[in-house]
Amino acid sequence: MLLDHTLGQQLQKPDIRYNHMAKLIIVSNRLPVKLQESEGRLDFKPSEGGLATGLGSIYKKKNNLWIGWPGMVVEDESQQQQIIDNLNGQNMHPVFLSDKEIKEFYEGFSNETLWPTFHYFSQYAIYEQQLWETYVEVNQKYCDELVKVAEPDDTIWVHDYQLLLLPSMLREKLPGSTIGFFQHIPFPSYEVFRLLPWRKELLEGMLGSDLIGFHTYDDMRHFLSSVNRLVGHGSTHGWINTGNRSLLVDSFPMGIDYEKYEQTAESDEVKKREKIYRNNLHSKKIILSIDRLDYSKGIPQRLLAFELFLERYPEFHEKVTLVMLVVPSRDAVEKYKELKEEVDELVGRINGNYSHMNWNPIQYFYRSYPLETLSAFYRMADVALVTPMRDGMNLVCKEYVASKLDQKGVLILSEMAGASKELSEALLINPNDINQMVETLHTALTMPEDVQQQHMRHMQESLRRYNIHHWVSMFMDRLSYVKIKQLSMATTYLDEATYQELSNSYEEASSRLFFLEYDGALVDYHNRPLMAAPDEDLLELLQVLSSNSKNRVVVISSREKDNMQRWLGHLNIDLIAEHGVWIKQRGTGWQTMTSLIDDWKSDIRLILDLYVDRTPGSFIEEKEYSLVWHYRRVETGLGELRARELVSHLNFLATNSNLQVLDGQMAVEIKAQEVSKGKATSYWLNMYPHDFVLAIGDDWGDEDIFKAMPREAYTVKIGNTHSVAKYHLDSCEEARKLLSRLIGLKQKKLPKELL
Ligand code: UDP
Repeated sequence: MLLDHTLGQQLQKPDIRYNHMAKLIIVSNRLPVKLQESEGRLDFKPSEGGLATGLGSIYKKKNNLWIGWPGMVVEDESQQQQIIDNLNGQNMHPVFLSDKEIKEFYEGFSNETLWPTFHYFSQYAIYEQQLWETYVEVNQKYCDELVKVAEPDDTIWVHDYQLLLLPSMLREKLPGSTIGFFQHIPFPSYEVFRLLPWRKELLEGMLGSDLIGFHTYDDMRHFLSSVNRLVGHGSTHGWINTGNRSLLVDSFPMGIDYEKYEQTAESDEVKKREKIYRNNLHSKKIILSIDRLDYSKGIPQRLLAFELFLERYPEFHEKVTLVMLVVPSRDAVEKYKELKEEVDELVGRINGNYSHMNWNPIQYFYRSYPLETLSAFYRMADVALVTPMRDGMNLVCKEYVASKLDQKGVLILSEMAGASKELSEALLINPNDINQMVETLHTALTMPEDVQQQHMRHMQESLRRYNIHHWVSMFMDRLSYVKIKQLSMATTYLDEATYQELSNSYEEASSRLFFLEYDGALVDYHNRPLMAAPDEDLLELLQVLSSNSKNRVVVISSREKDNMQRWLGHLNIDLIAEHGVWIKQRGTGWQTMTSLIDDWKSDIRLILDLYVDRTPGSFIEEKEYSLVWHYRRVETGLGELRARELVSHLNFLATNSNLQVLDGQMAVEIKAQEVSKGKATSYWLNMYPHDFVLAIGDDWGDEDIFKAMPREAYTVKIGNTHSVAKYHLDSCEEARKLLSRLIGLKQKKLPKELL
């Protein structure tokens, strides 16, 4: 089989895979071209879609690249190679999918599981393990193709719901790369998203990104709430901290290529077509409706509203026509076939009941049209009726506005479309409220021209500014900002070279001090603090570490001293409890660091009691010199809300006192300012000579410890977030591995790769 002539010529262009300049790689399910076979030749037809236009000027530049399915199943290997070579010449790289993969990954999981769920049609969603497995495999396939062409410092921009797992797969293979993800469809409320059996895996897949973009703020907050409830990561101003990385979630409403629609509407060809259509329609007023065939578009509901309008306002008979374009889509899926029948029937019924010799209330076209025809329709429509039940953005309404050069025309828009957040001058309707739709149609058809123009002008100004190019540059700028911000927040990973250096100074030293934070650095957090007892491995590790006469091991905690005594008191180690109120040097008993006054406790306790009354599941822990309000067992979301309230309440009270409020892991702690882990650790640094110091901590309360350390100390934070520590590790296991390695201890329960 021959490739066409122009494509053949492009084979001579250099292979992008051998160019090592940092590049941008765009990944989407489909490439911006469609591969077609006609008369034994393969042909690439460019896509007109908004994304292709917006990113067209970028992916064709230098060595940038677009990766995706070419739109046709190609099984022959030599033919595949021809396509690869050819696309490489056009800055594209194909991912070939088999018939089975298209069926299960694209039509199945993407369009019959994710699409209905994300559009709030969960009753249509199917949950099949086989489809999920293929979805995972195909995402992996995209990842494998990417890894073939990507360099570690490339920027990768992944698009849409077919590739939700790809960001994390890529992060694993290319840890340092910059990964952006944009979801073009809505993100549903947690209550709907949680219905998916693979909900956690899907979120974790997305969290491999550095920046996650949605069309609207609502999508963004639904996503953040699902991440919080299902994966357990909270967020601040859109930043999520996964424990070892920070990523940003933000909203970027996608625009259209405004100039293109404006210029097309201005062309003579379009004006000529408009005239012909108008003459053929014999109607004074034209209502336009354009959608892909999809249950999310609310087509039957719109037809019912139009039918009721004709019944309620007979004076509009023969004076108004609904021009309805429905673009065939996903006709292999059963639900779409049923919808097609329903639409056909409704159109037939309405036309049957109301048609006259010279007038059909509905002109229905089930096909797709080129830009010039659409533009002529947009020009002639007095009203655009865009009433989806749910839509990520909706571009048709924006294209209609851009094509209205005389600014006459009214847009009726569903408030369930993302675009309604920007186009507030449109007549906004609830697509479930048929009466409202009918009355709004009447308002639109009778709206004075000056009012129409006023509304249209405002919408045009906004769409001209927030166009597709603006959208691309906003996303890319934000992605660069995230990378810079991550760097400024990050500490260096304690890699093998640093480990060797640390290990050498350990070997050379004669008196070593270890400051080890208990929760979060040696032991993972537990929902019930008293369940986080030391395991056998940890006890063995601490015992062997402290048995070396050159080592002095200090375990630090904000826990009560009795708790620490029970768990670790039998070991030959030193302990710091309750943030440094109590200390215990090996071989001696507990003693307080300072003579503290705790007369503040009764007043603060009254406030905390109030919060316990209002927050089921929360409880107060009273320590010798501090009070803690725990909310780890409170309903997710409510706990964080109350904690924020409590912290600001207490901070207000603490301004004129010597109290300190610590906003910790699922707990708010109030203590006297004189008490600090930093002060307690300084005691050891002053008391005991040392030529090697290693401090490991995890949350922000441990920053006091790092600050107290001498300059030459090795300070290690668990998790890669902002810290004064010099290095970071990703988990408690890694911290334990570091200590075990130093003393040559092999431990049973540590993950294999860590041993
Ligand atoms: N469209 C087209 N030909 C047609 C009808 C529609 O090219 O006959 C285009 C339309 O211009 C718009 C897109 O299809 O750019 C539909 O995008 P929208 O966001 O409104 O809906 P989606 O189909 O993406 O859910």
